[in-house]
Amino acid sequence: MDPLEIMANIDRTFPFFQPVFSADEHTIMGYEILGRYQSEDGIISLGPFFLDEDIPDEYRLEVDNYILSEALKKSLEENIDTWFFINRDANLLMLDQGETLLELLLSFCAKGVKMEQVVLEISEKHFRGDFEQLFHLIHYYKTFGIKIAIDNIGGDSDQWERLAKVSPDILKVDLQHLRKEAGNTTFHNILYSLSMLARKIGSTLLFENIELDYQLHFAWKNGGRYYQGFYLHRPSGDFLKEDILREKLKTKCQDYIEHEKRHLKAVFNLTQLLQREINEQVNELRKHAGNLDSLLISLAKNVEDKFFRLYICDANGFQLTDNLVRKMNKWETHPQFKGKNWSWRPYFLENIMRMQNKNSGLLSDSYSDIETGETIRTFSYPLGEDQYLFMDLSYEFLYEQDGILY
Ligand code: CA
Repeated sequence: MDPLEIMANIDRTFPFFQPVFSADEHTIMGYEILGRYQSEDGIISLGPFFLDEDIPDEYRLEVDNYILSEALKKSLEENIDTWFFINRDANLLMLDQGETLLELLLSFCAKGVKMEQVVLEISEKHFRGDFEQLFHLIHYYKTFGIKIAIDNIGGDSDQWERLAKVSPDILKVDLQHLRKEAGNTTFHNILYSLSMLARKIGSTLLFENIELDYQLHFAWKNGGRYYQGFYLHRPSGDFLKEDILREKLKTKCQDYIEHEKRHLKAVFNLTQLLQREINEQVNELRKHAGNLDSLLISLAKNVEDKFFRLYICDANGFQLTDNLVRKMNKWETHPQFKGKNWSWRPYFLENIMRMQNKNSGLLSDSYSDIETGETIRTFSYPLGEDQYLFMDLSYEFLYEQDGILY
């Protein structure tokens, strides 16, 4: 693509609109504005033009602003009162401290566009300027009612720190690398942490590049409120009917809910089963066991089809017994763990409280075991008298249960 050709024919550039759908209403909540060019051979995307740093900044800004004006004009003509996601690279934005864009938007506000409709989608990953100045501009924009989205959210910690400083309204997460379920544990875990961060800083998650049902399911399951991608709708030159996908998304959502309920039910059933089994075992073994360590040894023999590590703690997390660990089909005793304290572990005290209140056992979420690296779950059980049994379920056992491992 020849940039000079584009500059000479700027009237042949025009906006395309990619709809963004909402999870709570299943309707279109806004459009991302994209650039297109009518060449001799058909319509081509201006994405590469905007990203090419060899093209002078003024060229790119001029085309960007032209397309934005055309888009907002069209929205006024057609009376479209929805959100517009406007892409801006932080480097280009800061060339004039964001003034040109603000003036352009204000001129459209005078004609009826509302600042609250504007979502400024900032790419800041390759920003070379002073971040403090960028933050300052973002806060200034916010005072006008402009919403801020941060594009290309990934797993790097520098970016997370910046997110916390800016508190963007929306975090845009690209799902294009999430093609299938297997082999995505790392991405999965990053996403989980990101959804926690978003909650803490008051941001909403938007998942983009959704091209498969699996990705939409993933977005729904991981706290995504807004969705965008070819699987839902391709960008086009026209605005669409707001409820164009309402029925499809509602049906999808119901499928995902059913799927999730089956999973939760399976977890619940396993918890009940373990509760009954351990209850019976402990009541029986207690009659004969001399102390906690011998109770643990007798118990281990009866539950070795499911568990690979057992120990007992008090309510403050001090370990009262040795660790019993099953290795190469034999139980080993690891006395060095006796007396250690586990209260620092996430949710430890909270779980002790829950067991006290319910007077029954708990099954943890699935997590990676520090020693073996395998995905496991822990069943914890109140023995009474301020003693709590912790039992780690083996990967092999969990793998064989339906819908339990993750
Ligand atoms: Ca974008």
